[in-house]
Amino acid sequence: MNGQSRLILYPVDPLLELALQPLLKLLQQQSIIAQPLPADLEREGYQVGEGFFDAFLFLGCSPSVELTPSIHHPEQPFCYLQRESTPYCELITGSNLKAACPSCKKRLEVPPVVKQDKRKELLIYCGHCGCDSKALSVAWRKTAALSSTRISLWNIFEGEAIPSDRLLDQLQQQSGLLWRYSYIVEG
Ligand SMILES: [Zn+2]
Repeated sequence: MNGQSRLILYPVDPLLELALQPLLKLLQQQSIIAQPLPADLEREGYQVGEGFFDAFLFLGCSPSVELTPSIHHPEQPFCYLQRESTPYCELITGSNLKAACPSCKKRLEVPPVVKQDKRKELLIYCGHCGCDSKALSVAWRKTAALSSTRISLWNIFEGEAIPSDRLLDQLQQQSGLLWRYSYIVEG
């Protein structure tokens, strides 16, 4: 498998850009993250800490998730956490997208056709009925993330793990917003 999978956590207000530092502090206090990734991996992110399995619940009976980069095979997938923030809202989708046009109910194209209106709100164009729908009005069924700020947990397969209620509560308390999560499969 060439594609990478990730679990993305994001606040419900897609236009709000949250400060990353307080989020980082929360993740560190809960030991969800440990040290930054080694510089030679050329990827920004954090290795997971000892609180990781309290913050994310694995649904299989014996999760076999690699938590540290391999020294000899740095290309081998392992689970790490990355924070991202952009001054504008982004719609992140992957090959696993399962969403329908709110108007005609037909399945949206993969990747979806995204436009921006005058107020920089994202619109999704449907090739079946020709209508533009607000990205916020689409039921993305946990297969897209619409946000300015997000936390990605890389190399988690679709449905393999879910964030604990405790983590979602903590993120909400810290940011004042509800958080959602989705799975994105790339490639
Ligand atoms: Zn349509």
